[in-house]
Formats: sequence, structure tokens, C-alpha cells
Amino acid sequence: MDNINHLVVTAKQQINSINDLTELDNIRVQYLGKKGALTALLKNLNSLSADERPKMGQIVNEAKTLIAQLLQEKKEHLVNAELNAKLATEVIDITLPGRRSQIGSLHPITKVRTRMEELFRTLGFDVIEGPEIEDEFHNFTALNIPEHHPARAATDTFYLEHGDYLLRTQTSPVQIRAMEEFGVPIRAIAPGKVYRCDYDPTHVPMFHQLEGFVVDENITFANLKGILNDFLEMFFEKKVATRFRPSYFPFTEPSAEVDLRCVLCDGEGCRVCGNTGWIEVLGCGMVHPKVLDAVNIDSEKYTGFAFGMGIDRFAMFKYQINDLRLLFENDIRFLEQF
Ligand SMILES: [Zn+2]
Repeated sequence: MDNINHLVVTAKQQINSINDLTELDNIRVQYLGKKGALTALLKNLNSLSADERPKMGQIVNEAKTLIAQLLQEKKEHLVNAELNAKLATEVIDITLPGRRSQIGSLHPITKVRTRMEELFRTLGFDVIEGPEIEDEFHNFTALNIPEHHPARAATDTFYLEHGDYLLRTQTSPVQIRAMEEFGVPIRAIAPGKVYRCDYDPTHVPMFHQLEGFVVDENITFANLKGILNDFLEMFFEKKVATRFRPSYFPFTEPSAEVDLRCVLCDGEGCRVCGNTGWIEVLGCGMVHPKVLDAVNIDSEKYTGFAFGMGIDRFAMFKYQINDLRLLFENDIRFLEQF
């Protein structure tokens, strides 16, 4: 009896004194395990007399139940304490605003290029691409740009070290490649990057052009004017006025520079148009017979027109950007305005 009471008191003291779940389990094994103290006492019951056995059995079982209960209570206490300690270190203020992730957007040039492509598609044009590394034949010779033409000068053109390769100075060579590959009739635009040695507020070494061309029977200058007017009105989403000024390009004859009545001031004069009321938007003309001859297309039977416009320039007008270089510096503060 005393023996059991002593055992219970000791167990109680041990349980009270520890603060660790592992140690608590050691105590459980010490008393209630297979080789534990109380288990041993139960096994000893067989050595008692038949009279003593039930009473002793009851006492040992009560002690066992009591110790098990104490262990369970202590365990719950320790688990709760651990959880509370963890919660205390992980305070979350649910009233704070969340952290927003930065959402990217398309570059203004990509937006304008995509818009231009969409509009020309609705006008029946295919969209095609060509290589940025070109040879002299496609970039110059086939476009009727003679050997001595200043456009070929190394100061304007990035020549590559080997062979007669260069970075294309215009998207016009795609016109040549398209006619070589698909023949005529053809009606396509070729947007893309072009390269020239130049750097100031209105020139950068890499910029974007969009070349358009139609070659078929009975194509006239009137078709060219109609297409360009339709495109400009769709792009700027308003009635526009255009002015065709005679010009010279080796690959078109006749050639023209096209001015658009300033879409910002409607011709009144403003900073963007330099108070002239007009902005120069593109160059165009009827495809020179020599260009058709260069790709073996019968220039007696077929005629065509071609035009080239600066995608970056259109982006500048659309978003009223006054320095072309801003478009290429990739300053997030500038770009996130679009
Ligand atoms: Zn203006």
C-alpha cells in the first residue's frame, strides 16, 4: 500500500517538474510501459493470496488510471504552451494591405505595331517577316540602289565583317524576298527592326519600320492613296487630311512623302508639328520597273505600290512622346504609363 502511494506521489512530482514532451513520454514508459513500475506490480498480483488479490488489483489499477490521467493533462498543457509560443512569434496583422505583384504590360511599340498589323489585315494584307541580317543584293541592288548611292556608305550602314552581309537598313528587302518566294499578285506588309548608324532625339541605331506593298495588274497611284487614307483614318480614329509631296526613292517612281494634317492640333500648329500644322508620316510610291525586273516579274504586265512608315514615329504621335530615345531606354517609370 505505502509502496504504491509513494510511487504515485513520486510520479506526480516528476510529471509536475518537467516541461518537455520527450521527457514526459519517458515518465510514461517508466511507470506504464511493458517493463514499468506499475506493470510490474500488476504482474506481482499472482503471488498474493486469493483474498488480497482483488483489493490490491483495484488499488494498482486506480494508481495506474491516476498516473495516466496526470500524464495526459500534462501533455495537453505542453502542446498548448508550444502552440501559444509559436503563435506569439508569428503575429500577422490582417488589417495590413496586401503586397501587390507588379503586372507587366506590352511595350508601346509592340502595342502600336500590333495595332498597325491588325488594321492592315482588315485591308486584306498578309503580314510577313524577313531576316535582319541581309545581303547587299536584297537590301540595295534589287531595290535599284546603285553602287555609288550614299545610302550604301559605311557611315549609314552596319556592315558585317564577313561576306557582303549587313544589318538591313530598311524593311524593303522583305518586298524583294516575298516576290521571289510567292511571286505576284502579292499584297503584304513587313514590320520589323532596321539598323542605321545614327543617334539623336529623332534617330536611334535600331528602330522599327513597316513596309507595305501591293503588286498586281492595274494597280495605280489612286489605289495607294486610298489604302493609305483608309489606314491613317483607322489608326488615328478620326477623319484625316493628307498631302503627297513629290520625292525621290530609288525603288519607286513616282515617289512621294506623305504629310498628315497634325492629328493633335488639326492643323492649327503645335509643338508636335513644329507649328506647321503637318507631320511627315511616311514615304511611298509606285514600284520601280527595275525592282520588278530584278525579281523577274513582267513590269509591262504588273504594276505595284510600296510604302514605308516608322512604327516608332507612329507610337510617338499616338502617345505624344517627343523624344524617340525614351522608347528604347526601358525606364519602368516611363513605360508603366502605357
Ligand atoms: Zn500640331
